[in-house]
Amino acid sequence: MQRTDMYTHREKRLTIVGGGLLGAAIGYGAAKAGAEVTILDQGDNALRASRGNFGLVWVHGKGTTMPPYVDWTLQGLRLWPEFQEELLNRTGVDSGLENPGGFWLGFSEAEVEKRATALEGINKNGTKVPFEILDRSDLRNYLPGIGDAVVGGSFCPLDGHANPLMLLRALHMGLNQLGARVVNGVTVTDIQHDAPDGRFVAVADDGTRWSGDRIVLAAGLGNASLASHLDIHAPVLPTRGQVLITERLQPFLHYPTNKCRQTKEGSVQLGSTAEDTGVDDGTTSDKIEWLVRRGVETFPALADAKLVRAWGALRPLTPDGYPIYQESERFPGGYVVSSHSGVTLAASHAELLGPWVSGLTQTPPEFTSFRGERFLDTDSSFSNGY
Ligand SMILES: Cc1cc2nc3c(=O)[nH]c(=O)nc-3n(C[C@H](O)[C@H](O)[C@H](O)COP(=O)(O)OP(=O)(O)OC[C@H]3O[C@@H](n4cnc5c(N)ncnc54)[C@H](O)[C@@H]3O)c2cc1C
Repeated sequence: MQRTDMYTHREKRLTIVGGGLLGAAIGYGAAKAGAEVTILDQGDNALRASRGNFGLVWVHGKGTTMPPYVDWTLQGLRLWPEFQEELLNRTGVDSGLENPGGFWLGFSEAEVEKRATALEGINKNGTKVPFEILDRSDLRNYLPGIGDAVVGGSFCPLDGHANPLMLLRALHMGLNQLGARVVNGVTVTDIQHDAPDGRFVAVADDGTRWSGDRIVLAAGLGNASLASHLDIHAPVLPTRGQVLITERLQPFLHYPTNKCRQTKEGSVQLGSTAEDTGVDDGTTSDKIEWLVRRGVETFPALADAKLVRAWGALRPLTPDGYPIYQESERFPGGYVVSSHSGVTLAASHAELLGPWVSGLTQTPPEFTSFRGERFLDTDSSFSNGY
């Protein structure tokens, strides 16, 4: 992103609404760039995708209908290793990135063929995501434990996984060390601008006012109602994902897959469902059973593993599943950021969006693809792939 010389002392106070992976990563990057960051976040019971996700750091299969998103994701993967190193050195917290490559696994020939066509289609758009299509016997060279239900799959050497909870912890510790202020238990209900006490004022439901020179709305599902205060259209809706976790097992799965992954600590995470349940982030026995069946069909040895936890979390998704990164034209210095793949994109959110929302870099031309107004086009139809 190209640097600007717009940054003055007066513009340094940055308020971020939302302290999940997006708000924390962007705040971390902004604080590193010299902004005085205040993050306003809700309490422990808030809906928070960042505490319930699957932890993949992943590109292959993403961006079938939006080439700029593929490039953006590739850039994010490139930045991740150095970013994790920096967070580790600064905070002592290991975000757990491992990127040995990742597998997508299919249960029928038709499914695998469809996958191959989709992956070829992505690269026909001019992007270069390396991938291979493999049959079951090829797969067994990498994943010796796969079951007979798996007929084939795809592999991308760039993919990997991380520990999302440790990533969130590292970001918050990093924020703290950089002098940023994180205020919990605040629900912002209104954004005012050109107010006498600051350029933007975030007003909480108890009447508390937080002023700053710039503001970022990174409130996950909360952006749906807040973004209009900046005159930005952000139709973000919830899709529930249920996820399971087993007891710790001896290492047997050396690559993450789209259906399960083994963490560094040994537990296996199985996930995730995609359900339209409004703001219900609970779990259900039918979906737990479905995930277990699918996990055991994928890796039969899991039949003997004990499940220790199940949870549900809500993905904040736009209608096409791609991000909204937008500065308000009516209220410059006010930004809306909403994105799925907050783990995958954490390094870009910090290193590229942090300086951008601080006014230090110009809006990259490809961000025109990420404007919320695309959803107002009545001639277009959208599917977020879930
Ligand atoms: C089941 C599941 C699996 C996933 N798997 C992956 C994966 O494998 N890889 C990957 O990269 N991504 C994955 N994701 C997506 C990833 O979790 C999200 O992209 C990311 O967590 C979004 O972060 P966020 O900060 O935007 O939202 P959230 O984590 O939801 O945080 C929003 C924050 O805003 C706060 N907030 C909301 N409204 C207000 C308000 N009015 N005032 C103040 N604060 C407010 C909330 O309290 C919350 O802390 C998955 C998500 C789910 C649910």
